[in-house]
Amino acid sequence: MSLQYRCGQCRTTSPPVLTRTGLDEERRKHRVLFHGGHVPDGERVIEPEPFRFTDIPLGQWVAGALMTLVIVVGIAVRLG
Ligand SMILES: [Zn+2]
Repeated sequence: MSLQYRCGQCRTTSPPVLTRTGLDEERRKHRVLFHGGHVPDGERVIEPEPFRFTDIPLGQWVAGALMTLVIVVGIAVRLG
């Protein structure tokens, strides 16, 4: 999961960070360096969209089903 800090005043976005602690550090550094420690209007956190199964393209579903079928058939052949 990557998080980004966005400053609406400066119209800038931080590089992605992986943790809330990293995000807090980006926000703190930006506030101190560019806004004298004040909280700029319009700042926000950009978070990735939560994963949804409907986002997986149909082709990947088909490929996944075929691979699963091959594995299951392979196991059945070995056991049978
Ligand atoms: Zn700013």
